[in-house]
Amino acid sequence: MASAPDSGDDVFDEFLSDRGHETERVGWERNYNKLQCPDCMALHDESADDCSVCGWDPSPA
Ligand SMILES: [Zn+2]
Repeated sequence: MASAPDSGDDVFDEFLSDRGHETERVGWERNYNKLQCPDCMALHDESADDCSVCGWDPSPA
């Protein structure tokens, strides 16, 4: 049903990590009645605990 977006964010995430810039922890984005991963923009049901596409987790480190 939901198609996986192009995974271009991995590189960007590594870019931030390499610079020692701590990735800001945020909650799910809202997209209609879905939860949207702020990292890879994948949409998930509201019951999702973490992103099954990129592994992003909304809970604090
Ligand atoms: Zn994701």
